[in-house]
Amino acid sequence: MSETSPKLRAELAGIPTYKPGKPAAAGGPVAYKLSSNENPYPPLPGVMETVTAAVSTFNRYPDMACTGLMNELSDRFGVPLSHLATGTGSVGVAQQLIQATSGPGDEVIYAWRSFEAYPIITQISGARSVQVPLTAGDVHDLDAMADAITDRTRLVFVCNPNNPTGTVVRRAELERFLDRVPADVLVVLDEAYREFIRDPEVPDGVELYRSRPNVCVLRTFSKAYGLAGLRVGFAIAHEPVAAALRKTAVPFGVSQLAQEAAIASLRAEDELLGRVGSLVCERTRVVDGLRAQGWTVPETQANFVWLRLGEHTVAFAQACEQHGVVVRPFPGEGVRVTVGETEANDIFLKVAESFRKEL
Ligand SMILES: *Cc1c(COP(=O)(O)O)cnc(C)c1O
Repeated sequence: MSETSPKLRAELAGIPTYKPGKPAAAGGPVAYKLSSNENPYPPLPGVMETVTAAVSTFNRYPDMACTGLMNELSDRFGVPLSHLATGTGSVGVAQQLIQATSGPGDEVIYAWRSFEAYPIITQISGARSVQVPLTAGDVHDLDAMADAITDRTRLVFVCNPNNPTGTVVRRAELERFLDRVPADVLVVLDEAYREFIRDPEVPDGVELYRSRPNVCVLRTFSKAYGLAGLRVGFAIAHEPVAAALRKTAVPFGVSQLAQEAAIASLRAEDELLGRVGSLVCERTRVVDGLRAQGWTVPETQANFVWLRLGEHTVAFAQACEQHGVVVRPFPGEGVRVTVGETEANDIFLKVAESFRKEL
């Protein structure tokens, strides 16, 4: 057999692999998965029925243009169809945005630590990642990010709220940042956790995009809407950017099941947002509980909390797992814990309390 293998692009060497949140251990006593920021509730009855009905047509290709979903989104957000694009989760859309803007010699700027998909999709494109450290308070340093822009910069991600810290950037600072970004650099506002925001000073990206042709808003059905397994997300952006997204889409990427489920979820929004409200109450309870135990917890506007545990990160994650909750460790940095079922949050709080006493 020859030693020679097919030639692969050099950019793929050393690419970080995406680490999915660990699943809850099967067969254990009780096991809760608090490692992927999923919605802990099962699908709403109406959504379930719609998807079940759509199952009978999966010998057919889906509607490639996602017509029904696009119309629904257009009405709901008050944006023209030409400003919309759907994709296989918002990660899929983010990858298309990079493909459409960046290649070898170009630069993509984002905060670090932030969403772990950014370095991966940037490196695949051949562009260079420019990672701008979060502030000491674990917030985007927008001034430093604007300072990092060069004539090679093609795209800047602003993850609001930031994954994994839950922290936000507010209206005045975000507008000041956008005013500093050259008109030919695309700013992607990744708003995967938008529905969990309760701070009125956090702007809605859809309002910011309207007067700014270089702003693209990313949203997903994976988190608050509870459709993580069906892979559907979307972007709102002005014509050239949205058109580029439609060009770079994998044909038939969004399944008919996903399209129908997304439409049904939008129509069941009152109930869905009621569940989100309960999770937000749980978030307050978890954060208050941790602070009462003596932990420093950054203000979170997402469905997770961040504990900067440094060298204790892995030990903490192991302690959680031993007690039946799986969290997401970033070794050497901290632990991200999804706000889940009340019982799961209780277990997490108990583990945090005893761990704190031993520190
Ligand atoms: C979960 C998440 C997404 C969405 O992922 P999907 O591909 O839509 O499932 C996007 N951005 C961030 C920051 C996330 O945490």
